[in-house]
Amino acid sequence: MNLCMTQDIHESMIRHAREVYPRECCGMLAGEDRLISAIFPFVNRLDSENSFWMDPADLILFFKKIRAGKLHHLGIYHSHPATRACPSPRDIREAFYPDCSHFIVSLENLEAPVVQAFRVLEGEVTTEEIILVGQGGGRPG
Ligand SMILES: [Zn+2]
Repeated sequence: MNLCMTQDIHESMIRHAREVYPRECCGMLAGEDRLISAIFPFVNRLDSENSFWMDPADLILFFKKIRAGKLHHLGIYHSHPATRACPSPRDIREAFYPDCSHFIVSLENLEAPVVQAFRVLEGEVTTEEIILVGQGGGRPG
């Protein structure tokens, strides 16, 4: 079963990464079933160029919001301002959400950002394919 994401969310992640460049951005993704349809940009509390940290208070607020909106937590994202869209050893060590997809936005080439998704389960990384759909949720075929 593939994970889908609206085009808007995809663009918003890249926009967020550009906004805080050359520091790392971070945020959460939510939606229904297998479709990511909501984005929640976070403030990177480390304000760093090679790592990020989410404030627990921001996380509590996020989980309250998605519960109120009857959404599921489907993903977490952050950016790599100067490196490829591959999880760093720290990303793997600190992958706290085994049921989520981990998105990395690479701005290594500022002209051509790359977004990749991964699952991280007990230190094992697998690449995930993401299907982009239109705002309407997409149609079969
Ligand atoms: Zn990273």
